This record gives sequence, C-alpha cells and structure tokens, in this order.
Amino acid sequence: MSQVHIIGAGLAGLSAAVALAGQGRAVTLYEAGPAAGGRCRSYFDRELGCRIDNGNHLVLSGNRAAMGFLDTIGARHLLGGPGRAILPFLDVTTGERWTVEPDPGPIPWWVFRRNARVPGTKLTEYGQLLRLRAAGAETTVSQSLDPRSALYRRLLAPLAIAALNTPPDAALARLLASVVRETLMQGGRASIPLYPRVGLSETFIDPAIAWLTARGATLHTGRRVSALHLVGGGIAGFDTTEGRVTLGAGDAVVLAVPPWVARDLLPWLGTPDSFEAIVNLHYRVDVAPAGEVGEAGFLGLIGGIAEWIFIKPGIVSITISAANRLVDRGADDLATAIWPEVCAALGLDGPMPPVRVVKERRATFAATAAQARLRPASRTPIGNLALAGDWTDTGLPATIEGAIRSGRAAAEALAA
Ligand SMILES: Cc1cc2nc3c(=O)[nH]c(=O)nc-3n(C[C@H](O)[C@H](O)[C@H](O)COP(=O)(O)OP(=O)(O)OC[C@H]3O[C@@H](n4cnc5c(N)ncnc54)[C@H](O)[C@@H]3O)c2cc1C
Repeated sequence: MSQVHIIGAGLAGLSAAVALAGQGRAVTLYEAGPAAGGRCRSYFDRELGCRIDNGNHLVLSGNRAAMGFLDTIGARHLLGGPGRAILPFLDVTTGERWTVEPDPGPIPWWVFRRNARVPGTKLTEYGQLLRLRAAGAETTVSQSLDPRSALYRRLLAPLAIAALNTPPDAALARLLASVVRETLMQGGRASIPLYPRVGLSETFIDPAIAWLTARGATLHTGRRVSALHLVGGGIAGFDTTEGRVTLGAGDAVVLAVPPWVARDLLPWLGTPDSFEAIVNLHYRVDVAPAGEVGEAGFLGLIGGIAEWIFIKPGIVSITISAANRLVDRGADDLATAIWPEVCAALGLDGPMPPVRVVKERRATFAATAAQARLRPASRTPIGNLALAGDWTDTGLPATIEGAIRSGRAAAEALAA
C-alpha cells in the first residue's frame, strides 16, 4: 500500500494525517522534536512544578475546521470556556471594566443599546467594522479602521493584535476581515471563546495521535528531516536523523514544517521570512475571580503591557502578542513589570509568585502585505509533494484554524 510521509507533527501535519488516514491512506509522521505539537504544545515545567502550555491559545466557535478536526478525533468536549460569547475587559489606565456580549445571531443589536456598547464609544463608530470587508489588497488594519476612535482602542485593535500577531499599522486588513467574517460577523453563536480545559497537548495533540495510531499510522519523534531528494520531477526519498527513507511507487510527502525549515529543504520555495514574537508569562498562583471574569476564564487588558490574562487552576497566564518589541527584555524585568497589572486586574496583592516567561520569538509570520505575497499554495510543481503550515496561503492569519485548514488542503492537493 502506498504511503504518505508527513514531515512535521504540528497541527498542520496532524490535520493532514487525519484527513489522509480518514481516506484510508497509510500515514507516517516524522517529527524533529521530542513530542508532537510544535507551536501548540504542553509540557512539564520543573521550576513551576506543573504542566504549562507554551502559550495561551484561544479559538472561537466559528472556527469550523478546528471544530471539525476536534470532532473527528473525539476531542471537542476537551475545550472549555464560558459557553456564551462574552469578552470581559479592564482598562488599566482608568480602572473601567466592561464585557462585550454580541447577540447570538448575525444582527448586532447590542451596538444599538448604549449600556451594552464598549464604554466611551458612539454608535457611529461601529460602522467601521463594515469597512473591513472592502479593504484593499495592501490596506493595513489601522488604515481600514479609525485608530482615533474609542472602539478601535478598546476592542478592535486588541482583537486584531490577538488574531494577526502583528501591529495594526502593518497588519493586513483583509486577513482580519477573513477572521471577522467567520466569527464576529456571524454573531455570538460563532464567537464563543474556547480554550483547552487541561492543556493544548491534551486537547489538540494527544487525541489526534491516539486516533491516528488506532488507524495504523506511525509517529516517529526525534526524527529530524535534513534533506529531500528529487529524481525525475518527484520526491524519491529524504534523509532523517535515523537514516534515509526511500519512497515507493505512489508514495507522497506532506512537508508540514515551519517556513524557515521548508526553505532550507526546498531552496527554490518562496516562504514568509519575517516573524512576530508572542510572550507568555505563567505565574504560579491560584485565584478564583467572581463574575464574568470567572465565568469567561480570561480578561482583556487595555493600556497595560499585558494584553490577555487567562485564569487556570494554579496558574495565571499572561499573553502579549506582536511582541518583537519585548523579546529582548529580561524575563525577571518583564515578570516584575507585569505582576502589578495582574494584581490590579484580579484583586491580588502580596509578593510575586514563581513565574515562567516563555518567549516564542518566531511565533507566527508577520501578517503584512509583503509577507502575504510570499505564502505558497499547498500544491507544488512536484507531483508527490504538498505543503502544509499556518504560513501557506490559507487566506487566514497564522492560527490553529489556518494550520488545520492547511493540512486538509495538502491532503486534497495530493488527492488531486
Ligand atoms: C505562543 C503562541 C500563542 C498562540 N496563540 C494562538 C491562539 O490563541 N489561537 C490560535 O488560533 N493560534 C495561536 N497560535 C498559532 C498556532 O499555534 C499556530 O498557528 C499553529 O500551532 C501552527 O501549526 P503548524 O503545524 O503550522 O506549525 P508548527 O506548530 O510550527 O509545526 C511544525 C512542526 O515541524 C517540526 N519540524 C521542524 N523542522 C523539522 C524537520 N526538519 N523535520 C521534522 N520535523 C520538523 C516542528 O518541531 C513542529 O512540530 C499561537 C502560537 C504561539 C507560538
């Protein structure tokens, strides 16, 4: 039986594997790291004495591919969250708190109710969301929206930075439009925040591996691929840390590695080459906030260094996106600067608890017009090779949804 060899077992590689195994194809995965998961993984942190995620990951109920993937591997129930579309915020400069709660259906009645709107915003400001739909190929988020408006500062910019991981004056508006079209514009039912109840690996990765293994797939970890061999217009084999793999007739390869690795393996391939960091801080502290923050399990911060606070059993985790400006700051310095914001947000005081600072320097490609032009399609000129990864041309920013769609697209490219 012909084999599909999948190089890279992040979400894109796993999604390709699930799609291909679902079609009855024989699948083998090769992962360089000690475990699958790539940029979406959990691990035991010895200093904190508990498992943590490399960074907080949030999906929305409108992320259809992510939901479909979890349904297939039987893991949707491992996501938790408020169960309704609520986004609590705190402005750390004024102390104001509010919760955005879109109506369930696509008509945004909430913007017509003064006390449901974001404080300080006028009804007319909400029209700027419609302008996103008409954004040109090069228009940035801040050009498309109105950066002087309270709505921009208190809702749209934070959402754009979280979704695109790029400063709004450089980020491409049409990538934000793709996200908003499938979530916020569909109303509250498509905008329910979801995140793993336990950990990223326990939710997205381990159940996928169990599902694949039950269908005869094999995952080799610690198996870095260092070269692809092209013969007569097709991939004939590749080198791994454990030796060469030779392809048989009908065999194919899905390359599901980060863009810089893909370019090393295929020097002719154009790939995004500019990246943005995400910084996460995990404080070892147990809190149980009341009200909508407790219900949501997270809180958006305006006007501070911290952007999002996630509250988990025994851990309070902070996310800062588009964080290239911060990655060279010392971990202790960052943790000390952010702790007072956490205290103010959650009503804590006392000394700073043990903390782990995780800096993902190349968390995602920078979602700019120049980088978007470098995103390749899944299908390649090589008949038995397809590409997958959040950096391929999915039409979405680098997200779980994009990575999972890219894996499916790679499976379709091979079938075609
Ligand atoms: C801190 C952080 C927070 C994020 N938050 C969110 C969020 O809230 N919501 C959201 O939707 N998305 C979020 N993302 C983005 C999301 O994690 C990524 O889009 C997704 O995980 C990318 O998956 P991937 O498979 O494309 O790439 P990767 O996860 O990078 O997978 C590539 C895999 O290839 C392996 N590999 C590399 N080289 C080789 C080689 N030579 N041979 C074999 N294997 C190799 C790697 O080890 C890795 O496992 C976040 C990302 C980060 C880093």
